[in-house]
Amino acid sequence: MIAACTPPLRSAAHRIAVVGAGYAGLAAASTLEHARQCVTVLEAGHRPGGRACTQQLSAELALELGATWFHGGVGDVAEKNPVFQHAVGAGLIDSRPEVEAVPQDAGGTTADHLRVAWQQLLASGKVPVEQEALARRAWRWREHLQRAMDGCHSTADQSAQGLALYDEMPGGVHAALPAGMQAVAELLAGQLSDVRYGWEVRRITWGGPGGISIECKDGSRLEDLDAVIVTVSLGVLKAQHGTLFDPPLPADKVAAISSLRIGTVDKVFLEFENSSIADINETATAAVPPSEAALDSAAGPAAEAAAEPAGPAAAPASGSEATTADAVVSYAFLWSEPWEADGGVAAGQAASESQVPDWLKGVFSLRFGGPEVKLTGQAGGTAGGARGGVGPPARQRPAAELEDESTDEEFVPCAAAVRPTSYQAVAWVTGEAALAMEAASDEEVLNALRQLPTLFPQVQLPPGASWDSVKLHRSKWGTDPHFLGSYSYLGPGSTPADVAALAAPVCATAGQNAGAPVLLFAGEACHVKYIGTMHGAYMTGRQQAEVLLCALSPAGG
Ligand SMILES: Cc1cc2nc3c(=O)[nH]c(=O)nc-3n(C[C@H](O)[C@H](O)[C@H](O)COP(=O)(O)OP(=O)(O)OC[C@H]3O[C@@H](n4cnc5c(N)ncnc54)[C@H](O)[C@@H]3O)c2cc1C
Repeated sequence: MIAACTPPLRSAAHRIAVVGAGYAGLAAASTLEHARQCVTVLEAGHRPGGRACTQQLSAELALELGATWFHGGVGDVAEKNPVFQHAVGAGLIDSRPEVEAVPQDAGGTTADHLRVAWQQLLASGKVPVEQEALARRAWRWREHLQRAMDGCHSTADQSAQGLALYDEMPGGVHAALPAGMQAVAELLAGQLSDVRYGWEVRRITWGGPGGISIECKDGSRLEDLDAVIVTVSLGVLKAQHGTLFDPPLPADKVAAISSLRIGTVDKVFLEFENSSIADINETATAAVPPSEAALDSAAGPAAEAAAEPAGPAAAPASGSEATTADAVVSYAFLWSEPWEADGGVAAGQAASESQVPDWLKGVFSLRFGGPEVKLTGQAGGTAGGARGGVGPPARQRPAAELEDESTDEEFVPCAAAVRPTSYQAVAWVTGEAALAMEAASDEEVLNALRQLPTLFPQVQLPPGASWDSVKLHRSKWGTDPHFLGSYSYLGPGSTPADVAALAAPVCATAGQNAGAPVLLFAGEACHVKYIGTMHGAYMTGRQQAEVLLCALSPAGG
């Protein structure tokens, strides 16, 4: 993706702006500063990290609203995950072992392939007729998981070839970072000399004989720039490219922006107050251990649902633990109505299920504990352990396989389970359901989620937790104007050429820099193999900085 060096920029003092302080922007700015260039990073928000967003709720509790895992490139491998490398360098994490390769396929949409696999499963006779309805719901659940893994709005909207082109970095485990993924971005931003927060770029004027100028929302300006590296999300480019660039971007760039897709994947966190903390303090006893009774009651209704598939079913997907202070317990929700496709109320569908808001049926899992919840100095959950279950969208692999990762030494659960002040659960929701969830008020979202235990009696709260005393924390990636989507993918008509067109530098057409790259693009959408990841974003930022350095260098021409 690195363009050939074009004529060098002939300015003596090179002034470069980087728009966006996510991993792409930070990598670009770091690379340029290491090469002694004068760089200003303009970030619309008030923190670095972009979609790596760790929300610190208190000294003890933080939530990963965005990226959670290093998707590979960790351990003793040739190609390193650069974000992971920074985390290792800063002493935030140790190395990790390897995992499996990615299946390759091509043609059609992901939904086509899921349908074929489903038909093959039915034809194999492995699904007893009486369990077909239940299996169908499990299949729909898997489709939701696929959306969450790939960020696609719907699998019918995703090119299967594009999915096959995505590659797991060798040496890939899905390792979480105890300090949260924003921590590495904070380190990188802290090493830069000029990062300006709250500078929302509104217009980039380029292409004239003079330098490039940037105008921000509040009227602030940067003038006489030699080059700009733009790292805003594909969602922002889709919405704003027409007004952001003057003159407009070349037609092939606009076509690529339009062809590539970005979907919405949101996390909805529930923070349950532990009302039994007073009792625990008084008696100085640990939280109640996993109870056989709770496990039995969780398994019972699921088994009934298998025999009578008309109603919704939930299974504790992590399988071996009840919901307690220090356990990671996942529930998979097997809704009887598909979120989209069929529409209407399915025959035999439980009446109660037809009365909940449609978006709730896009909630396909609820997990207590796990790596999205960062706890320090307090019991309950894990301190960044990559423990799995249902919901975490590990790229390209079933979430259940994540279970194995809980044994690695450096990701031990928090201190022994004593006196958790609250319990945290996370639900994932994707596509149209996620957008509808974002449009609903906090109260509406909480009221909808409170219906889950009625619909899925298998869902158990930890001791001391209640649906009456719960706080909501959630992402709104789809409608946040600084993102307008979660991560990118190739749509049915997209090809890797679109990604290349998006990533291609735009050259000046006039003036002393004519022919030199002056407008460069980086970000997760600019990497075919590692699209939708932090490391993909980082690599594109570094690459584009290198393209620019090559043009700036006297040897470049
Ligand atoms: C829910 C979720 C889960 C994810 N899970 C993982 C995971 O587990 N592992 C993984 O590797 N990746 C994951 N990702 C993807 C990963 O977070 C992104 O691919 C990566 O962080 C994108 O980095 P970026 O620099 O390309 O863009 P961003 O992080 O979006 O950075 C762009 C920056 O530009 C700023 N900006 C926007 N408009 C303007 C403007 N007009 N002026 C100035 N600044 C502007 C934004 O505020 C933002 O900070 C996840 C993403 C989401 C949303």
